[in-house]
Amino acid sequence: MSVVTLPLPTFEDVADAAERLKNVAHTTPVLRCGTADRQYRAQFFFKCENLQRSGSFKFRGAFNTLARFTPEQRKAGVLTFSAGNHAQAIALSARLLDMPALIVMPEDAAASKMAATREYGAQVVTYNPRTEDRQAISRKLALERGMTLVPPSDHADVIAGQGTVAKELLEQVPNLDYLFVCLGGGGLLAGSVLAAQALAPNCQVIGVEPENANDGQQSLRKGEIVEIPYPTTIADGAQAPSLGKLNFPIIQQGVEEIVTVSDLQLMQTMRFFAERMKIVVEPTGALAFAGACNGGISLGGKRVGVIVSGGNVDLKRYARFLAD
Ligand SMILES: *Cc1c(COP(=O)(O)O)cnc(C)c1O
Repeated sequence: MSVVTLPLPTFEDVADAAERLKNVAHTTPVLRCGTADRQYRAQFFFKCENLQRSGSFKFRGAFNTLARFTPEQRKAGVLTFSAGNHAQAIALSARLLDMPALIVMPEDAAASKMAATREYGAQVVTYNPRTEDRQAISRKLALERGMTLVPPSDHADVIAGQGTVAKELLEQVPNLDYLFVCLGGGGLLAGSVLAAQALAPNCQVIGVEPENANDGQQSLRKGEIVEIPYPTTIADGAQAPSLGKLNFPIIQQGVEEIVTVSDLQLMQTMRFFAERMKIVVEPTGALAFAGACNGGISLGGKRVGVIVSGGNVDLKRYARFLAD
């Protein structure tokens, strides 16, 4: 029997990514909230990636990956399939690095997202998600145009870039007992593990998923990657049907536990962010704090890091979530 070992990213790669992102990505603020602290008798530290360029942490992984392209790759450009934050992050990074970008999006994607992606200068190609396979379309286009395909989370350079969020937080705030991180494909969570193990080995890393999209929790319990059917949840950044092949082994050896939250809890958390902290947070961005509050982990007296992963939400949809 042969064992295939994938070259997994390390903390050194996260540190290199941080160098590449210096003066390019924002060093996002860490907010405090007295109301939350009193309510849970803990000290919360909110790492606000909703205030990152392009509106989410995805900019870090995208820029880090494109910055490592060879001159030939740069010339042909980058291609990705995404309806969401990864598309905008790739489009902005490509513009900053002066390379062409092609984004494959479902034809029913939110008009605001398509417009934002085009405004960053990317070409958008649409497909019918009910009859066409985005991966096949992407592979065909990548071949035709010689473009490099960059997936949203299952890629060593993407993971290293996403790891700079936790690295930055752990440098801004020493001695955290817990770090709560949301997950979809698991790039942000895997990167967070690399940073925490190097900088704060006593900090427990907890993953948070929507209860309808708990493939990560199932995977940890089963000890192998579990794939689920396309899940229904308002957390559209966490609908990946499975963890990435590179992400899973890192998560498996570094994540204490994965907890889940309901869509109702996500809406309550978005409302809390708006009302108490005056920040706009998208449903997926509210996962980590919702998990800290509702995940059954006792936080009394603890110092708790929370990654607020993004703030891109259609305003009409956002208004409905706040009003419900
Ligand atoms: C993509 C995304 C996630 C999930 O990140 P993964 O690396 O796929 O686990 C979480 N929150 C937001 C806002 C995102 O855009």
